[in-house]
Amino acid sequence: METFKVAVLEEERKIGYHEVEKKQPKDKQVLIKVDSCAICTLEQRVYLGVMNRYPFAGGHEAAGVVEAVGKKVAGVKPGDKVAVRLLNSCGECYYCRNGHENQCVKSFIAETQECAMGPGGLSEYMMVSADDVYKVADDADLSHISITEPLACCVHSIENGKIELGNDVVVIGIGIMGALHIQLAKLKGARVIACELDEKRLEVAKKMGADILINSGKVDAVEEVKKLTDGRGADAVFCTVPVAALADQAVQMTGKLGRTVFYTSFHPDKPIEISPNKVHSSEQVITGTVNPSKKDFLAATRLLSAKIVDVSELISDRMSLDDLEAAFEKAILPDTYRIVVQPE
Ligand SMILES: [Zn+2]
Ligand SMILES: [Zn+2]
Repeated sequence: METFKVAVLEEERKIGYHEVEKKQPKDKQVLIKVDSCAICTLEQRVYLGVMNRYPFAGGHEAAGVVEAVGKKVAGVKPGDKVAVRLLNSCGECYYCRNGHENQCVKSFIAETQECAMGPGGLSEYMMVSADDVYKVADDADLSHISITEPLACCVHSIENGKIELGNDVVVIGIGIMGALHIQLAKLKGARVIACELDEKRLEVAKKMGADILINSGKVDAVEEVKKLTDGRGADAVFCTVPVAALADQAVQMTGKLGRTVFYTSFHPDKPIEISPNKVHSSEQVITGTVNPSKKDFLAATRLLSAKIVDVSELISDRMSLDDLEAAFEKAILPDTYRIVVQPE
């Protein structure tokens, strides 16, 4: 029996490796040899014990090469490079059926591997449904393609921000998500203002193409944005930091007809005050964004495949699947952007 390795988070800061039988794909199944899997916040929370979901086969940001396909698969063939949508949706609920599968009531119930629950990308192989496999260019760097899912989340967010050519756009927080927002907002034709406390991250914002940098530790970011926009406020503001005070700032620095997008979830979920009269008179839209739809995922694969978005600066390191504990320890450091895990 041929087997392959799957990494499983067994308990807080404890990783085990399971051997799983390598089978041949049936009908609409695709067998993928994993090349790269990035470590996201979800996996870090399980690793640190913030989320108690053991045993958990983590890894939902994966890319690889098709090894074999079932008889009914038409979209990909062995040898194709692919991204895999591992945080899939049920397909049966109200939201899946009205075209908003990112709002699926049952999403995240990924059961890719036989040995444990979870998306299962931290492994040597994955058996997935052809629906979830997206082909990319033959010359694509698969470590970059592993960033498809976070980019897709940002694509969804940018679409909710309804950016128009020449708009003033503020991105609050320049972690990997803020950095991707900057690149996408530039592609939409905006002047991008980056707000961040950390000078090193402001440097990243500049590399991503931000036009104006605001160190919000040194100046009042709301006042600064108003100054830059002749007192109007921005056309779209994206808050990517899980701090309620910054959500409040995001609302305040948004101008008439502007869109305020809460990209992140907030911890703790502290309520903020909103002036109903500001919203009434400005027609400001306050919205959020959660998970990518299939359309966003497809767009993200195309942006990376055609090298329209460049994530090379956002991959902090590539580490071995055999050294997963070290990879997690590095991923949780505050200065790390993405750690990409690669089987040997
Ligand atoms: Zn992710
Ligand atoms: Zn659903």
